[in-house]
Amino acid sequence: MNDIILLKLGEIVLKGLNRKAFERKLLNNIAFRLKPIGNFKISCLQSTVYVEPQDDSCDLEEAFEACSKIFGIISMTRASACEKDKDAIARLAIRCLKDEMQSAKSFKVESNRSDKSFPMTSIQLSQYVGGELQEAYPDTPVDVHNPELTVYVEVRDLAAYVHANPVPGAGGMPVGSNGVAVTLLSGGIDSPVSTYMIARRGVRLIPVHFFSFPYTSEQAKEKVVELAGLLSAYCGKMTIEVVPFTHIQEEIRDKCPEEYFTLIMRRFMMRLAEKIAVYYGAGAIVTGENLGQVASQTMEAMAVTRAVTTLPIVQPLIGFDKEEIVRLARKIGTFGTSILPYEDCCTVFTPRHPRTKPKLKDVEAVEAVLDVQALVEEAFNGIEQIPVGE
Ligand code: ATP
Ligand code: MG
Repeated sequence: MNDIILLKLGEIVLKGLNRKAFERKLLNNIAFRLKPIGNFKISCLQSTVYVEPQDDSCDLEEAFEACSKIFGIISMTRASACEKDKDAIARLAIRCLKDEMQSAKSFKVESNRSDKSFPMTSIQLSQYVGGELQEAYPDTPVDVHNPELTVYVEVRDLAAYVHANPVPGAGGMPVGSNGVAVTLLSGGIDSPVSTYMIARRGVRLIPVHFFSFPYTSEQAKEKVVELAGLLSAYCGKMTIEVVPFTHIQEEIRDKCPEEYFTLIMRRFMMRLAEKIAVYYGAGAIVTGENLGQVASQTMEAMAVTRAVTTLPIVQPLIGFDKEEIVRLARKIGTFGTSILPYEDCCTVFTPRHPRTKPKLKDVEAVEAVLDVQALVEEAFNGIEQIPVGE
C-alpha cells in the first residue's frame, strides 16, 4: 500500500465565495508540477489536499520536495498507509511513529473517517489507537488538551493513514489567483527574490530581461535563463521576454550627459516593461529595488524612473537589508547562480558621478534629444521569448 502526501491549504481557507476557484487553481498548479514526477491522484477535502501515487513508479520524495515550493500550502506531511482495520492502524502507528512517540512529552490521537462504513466512530478509533500507543510507549502520557504530539488517523476509501508532525509549506497563495505582473529580472541577487515574493502572493509573473549584447555576454543571458528556471519551481512555467537593449544604451551614451546615463536607461526599462505589461494585460511592474542601495535607488531617482509609467511599480524589497535579501536568496536557491560573475547591462556605461537627487524636468530635458518612441518600438519588436519550466 502506498504512502501519500497531505497538504494543508493556507490563506485560501479565509476566502469566502471564490474559495472554490482558489482551490481549483491550487489543484491545477499541483497537478502541473507533479506531472513529470509520476501519476498521482490529487483531490481536496476539508482544507486538505491528498496527493496519492497511482503506481509504484511514483517518487514520493521528489513529489514532496516539489510540493514544498508550491504557494498556497501552509503545512505538509507524509502519511503511511495500511488496511482499514483498527489493529493494523495501531500497529502502523506504533511502528512508524517510534521516534516521535519517544521524544514527545505527551500525545493525543485525532481520527477522521471519510469512509463512513468503518465500524468505529472517530472517537472510538482515537481511543483505541491512543490506548495501544500508550501501552507501547508507557513513558509518553496522553494529554488531550495540550499535547506536544498529535497523531492523526484517517480512514479513507482505499486505505487508512497515519501521520504526525507536519512541516511548514511554502505559504502564500496559489500562483495565478491574484493576477499577472511583469517582473524585471536582472542576473543579480535582488530581482529573483522580489519575483519569488510577489509570486508567493499568488501573482503569475512575466520575467523581462534587458540584454545588451555584445557589452553583456551570452553567458549573462544564460544566467538569467537559469535563474528563471529555478524560480519556475515556485512560479510555474514562464516565458522570459529578452529585450535587446544595446541600441538604446548606445544612443544614451552618445547623446546624453554621463551623470544621467543610468537614470535615462532605467526610464527606458520602465517604458518597455509597461509596453509588455499592456500587451499581456499585466497589472503591475515588479522590481528588486531597495531604498538607498545604489545611486539609482534614492527616493528622487526612483520618482524620476517611475514617472514614465502609470502602472503600479511593486518593490517588495524596498525596506530590506542586504543581509535579509541574501538569506532569502539562499533559502529559495537562487544565490549561487546570482553571484556568477557576468556583467549586467546596468554596469555597462556606468557614470562615474551619477545624479542621486535628480529633478524630473532636468532629466526630461536631456532625454529630449532621443527619439524615445522609435527606440522603444524597435526594442519591443526585437524581443526574444524564452520559455522556462515546461
Ligand atoms: P539586482 O540584484 O536585482 O540586479 P541591483 O541591486 O543590482 O538589483 P539595479 O541594478 O539598480 O539593482 O537594478 C534594480 C532593479 O532593476 C533590479 O532589481 C531589476 O528588477 C531591474 N533590472 C536591473 N537590470 C536589469 C536587467 N538587465 N534586466 C531586467 N531588469 C533589470
Ligand atoms: Mg543588478
